[in-house]
Amino acid sequence: MTNDRGTLVVISGFSGAGKGTVSRKLVEEYGYSLSISATTRKPREGEQDGVDYFFKTEHEFLSLVDYNGYIEYAQYVGNYYGTPRKFVEDCLKEGRVVILEIEVQGAMNIRQQYPDAILLFITAPSASVLKNRLVGRGTEEPAVIAKRMCRAVEEAESISVYDYIVNNEEGRIEECVEQIHSIIESESCRVSRRAEFIAELKAGLAEGAD
Ligand code: 5GP
Repeated sequence: MTNDRGTLVVISGFSGAGKGTVSRKLVEEYGYSLSISATTRKPREGEQDGVDYFFKTEHEFLSLVDYNGYIEYAQYVGNYYGTPRKFVEDCLKEGRVVILEIEVQGAMNIRQQYPDAILLFITAPSASVLKNRLVGRGTEEPAVIAKRMCRAVEEAESISVYDYIVNNEEGRIEECVEQIHSIIESESCRVSRRAEFIAELKAGLAEGAD
């Protein structure tokens, strides 16, 4: 899937909304590129360096900040998270759709730098479903779950800045994935994103194509 300049798709959502699974499915099913973030958070069981995240010490992370190595970075519940610059810029040059799964501060930062990025917010149907998912996945201590729920209250204040809100209902993840794919497809048909194509078309017409 390509267009003139490439498309940045930001996927945010409350912890436990299922955005990680949704993003992976978008890559598997539709061939989008997924940016792998760097973080100072410790790996969870089963997470692999270079696959789920680039796991870094605080010193390593901040050294790359000094070299302008991230297009954005933020702190979330006591850890740093950042989007490595090179991968994203390469994808955009190739005209690809690249997904960033990042929290709201990062999303606001991306909006400033890339005004035509598509900002999507994924949510569960209710606060209680969210909490049950976070408790159910069993990867976080109760104190961390409480902090993530508090963070969700703050994040909810930023939803209005996003372009789309998509519900990830229990057992209906495919619908959520398809819905996001349709949004990306529709956005790729925007005249403002197809300037080069339109210019070529006009040039061909002016030359009097057979
Ligand atoms: P988790 O610890 O659950 O993997 O991620 C915590 C939060 O950090 C999630 O909301 C996730 O989307 C966000 N996040 C992951 N990578 C990045 C990044 O590169 N930049 C920003 N700003 N947030 C990120």
